Amino acid sequence: MNMQKTSIRPKKKLGFGLMRLPQTADGKIDIPAVCQMVDAFLEKGFTYFDTAYVYHEGTSETAVKEALVNRHPRESFTLATKLPAWNLKCREDVQRIFDEQLARTGAGYFDYYLLHAVQKSNIPVFDQYDCWSWAQEMKKQGLIRHFGFSFHDSAEMLDELLDKHPEVEFVQLQINYMDWEDEKVQSRKCYEVAVKHGIPVVVMEPVKGGTLASLPEKPEAILKKCRPQASLASWGIRFCASLDNVMAVLSGMSDQSQMEDNLQTMNDFEPLSDVEKEAVQETVKVIRSVPTISCTACRYCVEGCPQQIKIPDIFKCLNQVRLYGKSEKASANYKNAVGDGGAASVCVHCGQCEGVCPQHLPVTEYLEEAASVFEV
Ligand code: SF4
Ligand code: SF4
Repeated sequence: MNMQKTSIRPKKKLGFGLMRLPQTADGKIDIPAVCQMVDAFLEKGFTYFDTAYVYHEGTSETAVKEALVNRHPRESFTLATKLPAWNLKCREDVQRIFDEQLARTGAGYFDYYLLHAVQKSNIPVFDQYDCWSWAQEMKKQGLIRHFGFSFHDSAEMLDELLDKHPEVEFVQLQINYMDWEDEKVQSRKCYEVAVKHGIPVVVMEPVKGGTLASLPEKPEAILKKCRPQASLASWGIRFCASLDNVMAVLSGMSDQSQMEDNLQTMNDFEPLSDVEKEAVQETVKVIRSVPTISCTACRYCVEGCPQQIKIPDIFKCLNQVRLYGKSEKASANYKNAVGDGGAASVCVHCGQCEGVCPQHLPVTEYLEEAASVFEV
C-alpha cells in the first residue's frame, strides 16, 4: 500500500455520521445536544466527522458550522462531505454546490470529499460534468485534501471504477455482519476489491440502519452470552473496525447515550477474538434461518389491487420484523411504505393479487399479519 494512501487514516477508527442528528419538537436539529455530542467525541481523541449536502435537507452542514467549526480549532478535527449527483443539472452546479458547502460549514476546506452514492445509474452524471478531474483541481487549490466516493453497487463495478480512476484515495462502503455475504450488497466482495487496489475503506451502516442494535431473543442471547456487558450495537461497530483496511467506521449517532456507548466501544478498541467471530457467524446463521416471505418484488400484484396496497413494500417491512424484531425503524419504514393510503388493513380480500402472484403467496394472510404488527 503506498504511503500517500495510508497517511489519510485518522488515528482512531470511529467516525461521527451526521445524518441522524437529534431534533427538537419542531423538527430542527437540536444544536445544544449536537454540541454536547461533538465535545464528548473530540474529548476522547476522535476526529472524523461525516456529513453531506443532502443530510437533514442541508442543515447537517450548517449544524457542522455551529457545533463544530465555530467552537473548535480547525486542525483538531477532519471533515468529510459529499457531492450529490441528483442535484447536478449542468456543469456549473458542481462548483456552485461545492462553494455552498464551504459557506454552510465555514470549514475553509474539506479533509475528505466524496462523490455521493456512486452507482451504475449516476456514473454518467459524474462523468458528464467531469467531477473526477474537477475534484483534482480542487485538491490543487487546497480546498480538498483527500478525494473518494461512497458506493452502492456490485464489486465488479467497483473494480472497474477503481481501475479507471487511480486518483481515488478512499472509498465508503456499506459493511456490516449481516450484509457481509449478502448477494446484493456484496460487502465482503467490495471490501476485497478495495484491498486489492490498496484503497482504505470508510464503513457506512455498520449497524444496518439501527437494525442490528436490537435483535430477536435467540440471536441476542448468542452475543450476550459471549460478552454480557456489551451492547448489540457495539458488535456491529467492532465487526467492521476489526477489518485491517478499514480507516473509519461511521456511526450515525442520534443522542448522547449512543455516543457514550460508541466511545466506550472504540476508545480502547479490541478487535473481535476468534471466539467472538464465531459468535457473530452463529448470530447471522440464526437470523437467516427465520422464514421470510419469499416475495420477489416483481409488483405484478400491485396494479390490479382495488385498494392500491403496496404489497411488496409492506412485505419488506414485515420481513424486517421477522428477522430483527419490531423496531422504530421498521415501523417508520411501514409508515413510509403505505403513505397516505393503502395500509395492510384496507385489503378487501378480492383475491386479485393471489391470482397473479408467480410465487403463489398467500398475500391476504400476510397482510393480516402486517396489520396486526404495524397497525395496533
Ligand atoms: S386481496 Fe387485498 S391486497 Fe389483494 S388485490 Fe384484493 S384488496 Fe388488494
Ligand atoms: S406478485 Fe407476489 S412476488 Fe410479485 S410483488 Fe406481488 S406478492 Fe411479491
